[in-house]
Amino acid sequence: MIDFENTEIGFKSKSNSDLRRAEFLFKTLSNPSIVKLGKIFTNAALSIGFPVGWAVKPTVYKHFVGGETIEKCQPVVEVLGQHNVKAILDYSVEGTDDPETIESALEETQRSIDNASRENNIPFAVFKPTAFGDSLMLQKASVDSPLSESDKKEKALFFDRIDRLCKTAFEKKVPVLIDAEDYAFQKHIDHVVEEMMKKYNREETIVFNTLQMYRKDRLDFLKESIAKARTDSYYYGVKFVRGAYMEKERERAERMGYEDPVQPDKESTDRDYNAALKYSVENLDIVTVFNGTHNEYSSEYLTKLMKEHNINKDDKRVWFSQLYGMSDHISFNLAEEGYNVAKYVPYGPVKHVLPYLIRRAEENTSVKGQTGRELKLILQEKKRRRNK
Ligand SMILES: Cc1cc2nc3c(=O)[nH]c(=O)nc-3n(C[C@H](O)[C@H](O)[C@H](O)COP(=O)(O)OP(=O)(O)OC[C@H]3O[C@@H](n4cnc5c(N)ncnc54)[C@H](O)[C@@H]3O)c2cc1C
Repeated sequence: MIDFENTEIGFKSKSNSDLRRAEFLFKTLSNPSIVKLGKIFTNAALSIGFPVGWAVKPTVYKHFVGGETIEKCQPVVEVLGQHNVKAILDYSVEGTDDPETIESALEETQRSIDNASRENNIPFAVFKPTAFGDSLMLQKASVDSPLSESDKKEKALFFDRIDRLCKTAFEKKVPVLIDAEDYAFQKHIDHVVEEMMKKYNREETIVFNTLQMYRKDRLDFLKESIAKARTDSYYYGVKFVRGAYMEKERERAERMGYEDPVQPDKESTDRDYNAALKYSVENLDIVTVFNGTHNEYSSEYLTKLMKEHNINKDDKRVWFSQLYGMSDHISFNLAEEGYNVAKYVPYGPVKHVLPYLIRRAEENTSVKGQTGRELKLILQEKKRRRNK
């Protein structure tokens, strides 16, 4: 059994001043009123172009983000690497329909794939597919709505951009994780990702889809996807997450009058999440599993499944991952035991990373017990260091 309470290992990459900053940050984030006000202020400041970097950069940005560019993330990559924790650099710019912004995001993602191919401590590249497609087209294509001529053009452009990225990943032998976001776009994205797997996963697992297990239909989808991969002889790469947009999804389903795609309760999400891990490990001859979670039970459960199936701790078909700035006690203790661990390290200019930071702030306020746990562990480690 892994001792996630071992804060000496969990925080070994953190200096005393890092811990003090983290304590201040998590105390602030535990107050829902402050987070709510912070969100309103940040959104208002952004809409009128008021600079917020001075407030955000030394605090929440420094804690959750690697830096503004790939090069500026290198010190973070190296510190993690010293403790056998790998990094995945995630260019965290949210989707836009502007062709110039799309092209520059594409070039940046190509650079991140290239960088990963040259850096031992970066085992994967990652991107958000919505950064490369027109949102209206993605929505229409996902419900099989008739497409106008311009939608058809956008659909072809989207396919071509995702193909360019996956082709680069294939040529450079860098596995690439394709994130999941809104339910409204996902059906078309799933279709394109499947095409990419058929094209690039014949010899090894290069392309990974993301399954949000808070969706009622994802366990069945997983089983169908693995069956298709088996029939068609390609490898299946899957990143599991519970899902970050629950409130938004529920609200949209109600507003648009369709069935809520999200599970009725947390227990159902947990049940399907863990069942998906089990099913994947049982199909490890063609599956590579990426366990993206801060949930201690799901992390530990995967280690147990590996043991039951005689899978080596460092088998390259099983990965554990947490977000940079969160749940180091899981990442560092797993890495210490010899498991494959990689932190998602977001990067990008302060202004562009703000929506990501707002999500982290909200997650650390609203997810039951989470801030309490981070804070408790930080205080425990400070006390341990004082009494040393
Ligand atoms: C490496 C990594 C990559 C990620 N990539 C993505 C991504 O591509 N797309 C994405 O959407 N998210 C992504 N996330 C975020 C993730 O979806 C979760 O929001 C976050 O990790 C919290 O879930 P958890 O498994 O860590 O833990 P927990 O704290 O155990 O679970 C919280 C989650 O449970 C679910 N939940 C909570 N209450 C209920 C309820 N009442 N009913 C149903 N479900 C409920 C929600 O999904 C909630 O976020 C990523 C996270 C990590 C660590």
